[in-house]
Amino acid sequence: MTISGKAMVCGVMGNPVGHSLSPMMQNYFAEKLNLDFVYIPCNVPDEQVGEAIKGIYALGFEGINVTVPHKQRVMPYLLEIDEAARCIGAVNTLVRMEGGYKGYNTDAEGLFRAVKRQGIEVSGQDCLLLGAGGAAKAAAYMLMKHRARSVAVLNRSPEKARILADEMNRLFQRETMKAMDLSEYPRLDKDSYLAIQTTSVGMHPDIGYAVIEDPIFYEKIHTAVDIIYTPAQTRFMELVKQGKGKAVNGLDMLIYQGIIAFELWNPDVRVTDQMTDEVRKMMEEQLYRQDGMERFKNDAEECNTHRIYGSRKNLCGKDAGKKDGP
Ligand code: NAP
Repeated sequence: MTISGKAMVCGVMGNPVGHSLSPMMQNYFAEKLNLDFVYIPCNVPDEQVGEAIKGIYALGFEGINVTVPHKQRVMPYLLEIDEAARCIGAVNTLVRMEGGYKGYNTDAEGLFRAVKRQGIEVSGQDCLLLGAGGAAKAAAYMLMKHRARSVAVLNRSPEKARILADEMNRLFQRETMKAMDLSEYPRLDKDSYLAIQTTSVGMHPDIGYAVIEDPIFYEKIHTAVDIIYTPAQTRFMELVKQGKGKAVNGLDMLIYQGIIAFELWNPDVRVTDQMTDEVRKMMEEQLYRQDGMERFKNDAEECNTHRIYGSRKNLCGKDAGKKDGP
């Protein structure tokens, strides 16, 4: 890979970013497409987000991905915010424009492409959304935008589910989404669901847990995406498969949100399916090899003890320990 003095410079900012696979993915696309492009990790302390954005603009960065915990924090420093990002309330990609950056959210569309890859059209589906946190908002927006028939959002804190459902119903001007407490799942009234699991339960290192264990619940799920991608197979995915459903993890969502960002910075190129498959293989090798989880070790050490629905376990719930997105 040759980087000239005129190379387009992009990157990822977060805190921490040491675990990020985005530099590997983005630089791989550039190499395959023979682009003069380089992508670097930028660890930005929480109180220096504004300075960092001014700094990358002055340095001529074409754009940057934004990951935990800065996805909301960057918003006041942007010139413009794309409609989807505004509705979701979080930005994960900045694209340079005259005088500053425009913010986008590529998580929602990344998830849509991951679902599509399973041969599933969201339109007309009865859907389940587990969780009502930041990632659930992107998932909710995607399900509404692509015209799911119904969406039941189940969360440990039902008030958060209600706020999310009200917000989405108001935004899309239809009563598609209804909120439920997690424990109310026996009241679900449809026969067959597309399920999106967005809680952090079951994520490395606290593998082996799912928010619901009851096998009867899983018999109603025909296809599921658990947006967690460490481990490769979560307890939730295992339970869906035992109920005869199809289940995938969140690695495709991560890859597709990155592809959408790459194509925003390089609008004249398209990442092919073959390149997508190659990058998935490389990422799987990094993540799921014997010592693959080492990359998360420092993050995991910062985890606190959190309450799991129904039992008490060590859960990685702090921002500093999260490793979603780019
Ligand atoms: P968040 O805003 O902190 O939300 C966490 C969600 O999990 C909330 O709904 C929370 O419920 C629920 N939860 C946490 N601990 C629980 C427990 N013990 N029992 C029941 N529910 C529990 O986090 P986030 O940013 O949405 O991220 C969630 C997950 O998505 C993380 O694992 C992250 O790595 C992953 N992610 C993946 C991608 C990808 O590209 N694949 C992108 C983004 C995020 P309460 O509301 O009751 O607290």
